[in-house]
Amino acid sequence: MINYFNFKKFNNKYLITNDLGRYLFADKKELFSLINNQVDMNSDFGKSAEKNMFCYNGSPRGFAEKVKPYFRDSKNYLFSSTGLHIFVVTKSCNLKCVYCQTQNGNEIPNGFMTEEIAERAVDIALTSPNDNLSFEFQGGEPLANFSVIQHIVEYTELNKRSKNITYNIVTNLTLITQDIVDFIKKYNVGISTSIDGNELVHNMNRRYRNGKGSYSDVKHSIELLKVNGVRFGAIQTTTSNSLPFYKEIIDEYISMGLKSIFIRPLTPLGCANKD
Ligand code: SF4
Repeated sequence: MINYFNFKKFNNKYLITNDLGRYLFADKKELFSLINNQVDMNSDFGKSAEKNMFCYNGSPRGFAEKVKPYFRDSKNYLFSSTGLHIFVVTKSCNLKCVYCQTQNGNEIPNGFMTEEIAERAVDIALTSPNDNLSFEFQGGEPLANFSVIQHIVEYTELNKRSKNITYNIVTNLTLITQDIVDFIKKYNVGISTSIDGNELVHNMNRRYRNGKGSYSDVKHSIELLKVNGVRFGAIQTTTSNSLPFYKEIIDEYISMGLKSIFIRPLTPLGCANKD
């Protein structure tokens, strides 16, 4: 008997998959033997197909009992609830990066989350049965709407009851001030930023709207974070500008005291699609 499966031609073979997360490569003859429920269970393919639960000997009820724990494992995510909640507090940004996904290059005068919407979003997030939640602030440039981030964190702390909440801001680091640093230290907020490489590469990719590079301001902000002991991490977005400077990019990360590089390829959305 055969179990439900999908297949697709893959080079000269056929990739066969099932709902239990198992897969096999088969030639055309083997695939047809499976489709027609005529697998030779003593052949190598038959043994492999049986082991990976594509077909079985015996009763359907016996097979159902056998696959039950595997099926339960593969669908286990259905019993855990959402842990990561992302608050896009504004779509506005003071930079105009060549690969921006959230903007099309036009200034967006509006698009700031209000305190009322923020409270509603927190209320929804706190309904998650998960005891450990992560709240992440994104934009645009989220620090352009810092007062609402502040409001969200303070409102959450008042209403979280027994939940553990971690906070993280994804920022270009050009608007950070000592007052903001003091706040994020108080609530142990993490910082994720973008460093595309040395000054030349970073400024080719990540400029202000007036065309000025953002490197020196970012570097200054990183020093501020380090002096204040704020935890931060960075990602590196790779563009065609970056490729000749692979060595300088790594040297830059080392000089900033970063222990790892997360290299992100471009996603062809927004400005990245156009540029
Ligand atoms: S920092 Fe750059 S990538 Fe991020 S929102 Fe602003 S323009 Fe877009």
